[in-house]
Amino acid sequence: MGSCQSNRSLAEQAKAFRYTITDKTAIKRVENILRPLDLSDDDYHTVMQSMLDQMERGLGAATNDTAPIKMYPTYVRAVPDGTESGEFLALDLGGTNFRVLLVTLKGQEVKMDSKIFLIPQHIMLGSGKHLFDHIAECIYRFVKEHNLMERKLPLGFTFSFPCRQKGLARAMLTTWTKGFKCEGVEGHDIVALLHEAITRRGDLNVECLAVINDTVGALMSCAHTDRKCAVGIILGTGSNACYIEKLEKVEMAEGNEPGPPEMLINTEWGAFGDDGSLDFITTDFDRQVDKHSINAGKQRYEKFISGMYMGEIVRLALEKLRKNGLLFGGEGSYHMATRGRFYTKYVSEVESDDTDSFPMTKQIFQELEIETVTDQDCRLVRHVCALVSRRAAFLSSAGVACILNKMKRPEVTVAVDGSLYRFHPHFHDLMMEKTRVLAPGIRYKFMLSEDGSGKGAALVAAVANRILAEQKAKGNPETSSAV
Ligand code: ADP
Ligand code: MG
Repeated sequence: MGSCQSNRSLAEQAKAFRYTITDKTAIKRVENILRPLDLSDDDYHTVMQSMLDQMERGLGAATNDTAPIKMYPTYVRAVPDGTESGEFLALDLGGTNFRVLLVTLKGQEVKMDSKIFLIPQHIMLGSGKHLFDHIAECIYRFVKEHNLMERKLPLGFTFSFPCRQKGLARAMLTTWTKGFKCEGVEGHDIVALLHEAITRRGDLNVECLAVINDTVGALMSCAHTDRKCAVGIILGTGSNACYIEKLEKVEMAEGNEPGPPEMLINTEWGAFGDDGSLDFITTDFDRQVDKHSINAGKQRYEKFISGMYMGEIVRLALEKLRKNGLLFGGEGSYHMATRGRFYTKYVSEVESDDTDSFPMTKQIFQELEIETVTDQDCRLVRHVCALVSRRAAFLSSAGVACILNKMKRPEVTVAVDGSLYRFHPHFHDLMMEKTRVLAPGIRYKFMLSEDGSGKGAALVAAVANRILAEQKAKGNPETSSAV
């Protein structure tokens, strides 16, 4: 892997901008402004230790209440074994789009047919009843279009909002995030709300067998082809992780269903640090990002890492350099002064750019209406992007390493989903490099999860369906609450 290379290129970049800034005091001033973004291995070890503490507290029944990392039980007890087959519906709500999918499983073969439906703003902010009626209507349109009306189809629901689950198909929404705020859903079981909407229509033959979130979807989807997959992480708009925990450690799970002695845990690790334990690495830029977010003081770890925030951290650092006369000759613009205007995708573009002439970087700043951008400005911008990306990737590695060390399996595949990981030119290499340092002795690999939200939901529904059928065959028609 090019892990060492990415490190080297970072050092090279730093050197390159030093050589071209001839003024020694200017170099010192740049370094002073950016130094807080550069963390040491000691810092990452401290981060891991407090993440481990918070995870243990989240798992414990007596400590969960006050633990920032909630470690939600998912009631998913087994990864797919490859024998799953049949046709399943899946819903994906909580990512960038709402989708209905038809997933056909046949051994390793997976066929997916999906359709994106819009959820208009007035529904996102309206009543829960209205939202679920809309979802049922979308299912109806999809089923009709695919000539599936005559069949009873099991459905898996990827619902990527924090939920406290009481069973595989019982998920109480804790709190809406990501722009949704529908009345009468928080604290309620979203499967019951969906089934009520389906019953109200009376023309749909669909049963929701499982609710999962996108991390679980990523893990299940990769585990379908790689049995060593035991961790799933999301590096997209937000960040989250799930992993396979020993059942005896999962004190918050209710019921006592038969099944393997393991359960997937949805960590909701984005909330790590909400008790102040990451304050020691928090820079002024991070504090500003947090202060102006819609959830100030919350999701502190996520705000160091994910796509929703990284571009803004870079913008704030660039603005500080510029105001100190160290960038763009001190010249700013309306766009560069606008919160959220420096997108995280720009960070990927700058770091992928040709370092001789910086065509993409220059184009970005042209769009942002900065008039004169020198090669030296481009070098410094690239250095800032690299520092912010490196810190994000290394902090993600600290999280992964914390889980790997805790699981103590000799070899683990980590499923990863999300556009930040997928499109950033160095994120993968940086994570490989730092995880090696922070989780020594464990063999691991990162695997891009292809459409985990659809395939994962269908796989969980398939496993649930199989267990249900087995129970019925044994003469025990009770609905299973565990896979
Ligand atoms: P979601 O998390 O909503 O399911 P994605 O996984 O697509 O969706 O993640 C979207 C996030 O990824 C956005 O916040 C955006 O900032 C970031 N992103 C999109 N394109 C890129 C890119 N080329 N490089 C880095 N980040 C990107
Ligand atoms: Mg997603």
